Amino acid sequence: MSFDDQYPTLKPEHSGMLGKCPRCGSGKLFSGFLKVADKCDVCGLDYGFADAGDGPAFFAICIAVVPVVGFSVWMEVSVGAPYWLNALLTAPLLLLACLLPMRPLKGYLIASQYYFKAREGRLDDLKDDTIDPEVNRD
Ligand SMILES: [Zn+2]
Repeated sequence: MSFDDQYPTLKPEHSGMLGKCPRCGSGKLFSGFLKVADKCDVCGLDYGFADAGDGPAFFAICIAVVPVVGFSVWMEVSVGAPYWLNALLTAPLLLLACLLPMRPLKGYLIASQYYFKAREGRLDDLKDDTIDPEVNRD
């Protein structure tokens, strides 16, 4: 029985999106708005494995751009708003639409890393007997 078996299996959308520890579901995942804490303050899980990379920004941009650009085009075509008014309204809206989902998305991706035991590839796999490094795979 491993240490992780002491905790219930939590789905990433139930723990990470709420900013909770992916193992115990009680501790805080973040120590700032987007800064990941060093470890869980309840169960002690080391968050050193957590690396969401550019994933949260990519998904936030994909989610935010479509409705905000649609709003901007609607203002230009239907209302005929001047460019300065369009920029004045669209820029803060785009900023908000990108920043607000960043934390839940980052938490979800980190919790998914933990849930699926995702990690970088290792060269130790070449020691596996089923893989013959002498075989030409061209
Ligand atoms: Zn925890």
